Amino acid sequence: MWLMANHYIPTITFAENPVWFVLAIILLPIWSAFHFYWVHRLLHVPFFYKHFHILHHRNVNIGPWSGVSMHPVEHFLYLSTFAIHWIVPSHPIHLFFHVIYQGPGAAMSHTGYEELLIKDKPRLALGTFYHQLHHRYYECNYGNQEMPWDRWFGTFHDGSNEGTQSTKERRRKMYQG
Ligand SMILES: [Zn+2]
Ligand SMILES: [Zn+2]
Repeated sequence: MWLMANHYIPTITFAENPVWFVLAIILLPIWSAFHFYWVHRLLHVPFFYKHFHILHHRNVNIGPWSGVSMHPVEHFLYLSTFAIHWIVPSHPIHLFFHVIYQGPGAAMSHTGYEELLIKDKPRLALGTFYHQLHHRYYECNYGNQEMPWDRWFGTFHDGSNEGTQSTKERRRKMYQG
């Protein structure tokens, strides 16, 4: 915010650039999902896993606080997603959106409940089976459901026995020798 206010990084207003203003709101979750996928894969490289990411994985049966339970190094890497605002022109509204998406968003995706139901109708998507499987089997589903990066990069676990087998195989290869 300080960098934006002092014109050290590029900013836009809605009046100047309405198309990009709206587009950026759509693109930010895609960027965030891409960034998260690769940062998370890096954190699963055995060295990084043993020293930093293992803390997050102490939670096998996750709850909301598990989402924000990270080693400071992981926090730094996870939140480096905001550096995109140093390069790509944006508005403080975009930054707020991005911060909420990364912060409370992480707690939501770890609630251990799939959805919030009001009068038996799903009203709010919460934790996901997708990330639950990551905490159960480790070497799968590094991304989130916003973008199919896991499907595209071959690390997807759909909850089936085959998914568990291929995940175990990946883990074995990563830790052999
Ligand atoms: Zn997690
Ligand atoms: Zn992980």
